[in-house]
Amino acid sequence: MTGEKERVPALDPSAEYAAARGEIDAAVARVLASGRYVGGPEIEGLEAEFAAFCGVAHAVAVSTGTDALRFALIAADLKAGAEVITSPFTFIGTTEAIHQAGGRTVFADIVEDTFALDPVKVRAAVTSRTAALMPVHLYGHPADMAAFEPLARERRLIVVEDACQAHGAALGGRMAGALGTAGCFSFYPTKNLGACGEGGMVTTDEAHLAARVRRLRDHGQSEKYRHAEEGYNGRLDAVQAAILRVKLRHLPAWNARRRAIAALYSDRLSRLEQRGLLRLPVERPGARHAWHLYAVRVPPGRPGRRDAVRERLAAQGIETGIHYPVPLHRQPAYEAMRLQEGSFPESERAAREVLTLPMHAHLEDRQAERVTQALGAALEAA
Ligand SMILES: *Cc1c(COP(=O)(O)O)cnc(C)c1O
Repeated sequence: MTGEKERVPALDPSAEYAAARGEIDAAVARVLASGRYVGGPEIEGLEAEFAAFCGVAHAVAVSTGTDALRFALIAADLKAGAEVITSPFTFIGTTEAIHQAGGRTVFADIVEDTFALDPVKVRAAVTSRTAALMPVHLYGHPADMAAFEPLARERRLIVVEDACQAHGAALGGRMAGALGTAGCFSFYPTKNLGACGEGGMVTTDEAHLAARVRRLRDHGQSEKYRHAEEGYNGRLDAVQAAILRVKLRHLPAWNARRRAIAALYSDRLSRLEQRGLLRLPVERPGARHAWHLYAVRVPPGRPGRRDAVRERLAAQGIETGIHYPVPLHRQPAYEAMRLQEGSFPESERAAREVLTLPMHAHLEDRQAERVTQALGAALEAA
């Protein structure tokens, strides 16, 4: 059946490069000719532009999203063994950062509709050792930040947003990255704002926190060869910064395109949802979804149904993803936590049901139409 049918990739970073090629090539050439490959005006320019984009006072560029999370926690003075509450339904970078910052992960389950941390479960997980909350804006939908605010105030908790999938998301008119003590972004190539390599950013309104992240990313230097503390080699390089500055200018238009694709998907698939064959992603009132991923749920009519649907789509050349097939508390890396199946039922169910459809700013309407038709046929058959 594959025949001449065009392949539909789930993600397409090279299409993004093609769309801005002239500007990116010029920016890279400018940096290469300048001789300033680490630090310098491209980093400062990107930081100022990204801070303005998020509506925060400070943005500090770092090497990866995982380092952004790690540095934010260390900079917020996380004590050794302090507890950080986060979701088990996320990428492992979230919890790696907690442990690398000296903290302990305490998981709380997610809500059904947005796949983000459940405020009720978070409140129940707070102990006298809790120091921080780390909500994840999964797939680009902001977590329920307003619900965490009273708890954070009451218990003096810091709130670090894992906004690695949420460049351009917003809640109540405030941008992701401006919704907590600090916001952490990844510029991994497939994110809404992606480098041609690795990158990350910490955003905050707090000057001392920004200054400490600046120091941590650069071997703890307060000035050249004066080390206030041991830090890390955690800087972003100037070539990536120059590329990101170009792409940041396109981000609003590219995110608008993602939104249009999400609207097309939801329109064409609503009939299948009415028949109970799948569940569509939501955008809560007051929230702006960044549509990093468009994740549907395929309810398990029988075991393996989601994977059967995925295989049928693959046979049609349509690439889909599963973000994520195993929640973190069931990963071998975290066996020592001894969290059995059943510990976080919503996360476990999400891991069994989610299927992410092709989503990137350069996906064409006709490709998106083909995805919805093929998905309809696959759901009928599976
Ligand atoms: C991508 C991602 C990270 C890690 O970012 P890197 O830049 O790959 O280190 C962390 N958390 C989430 C939710 C992510 O999607």
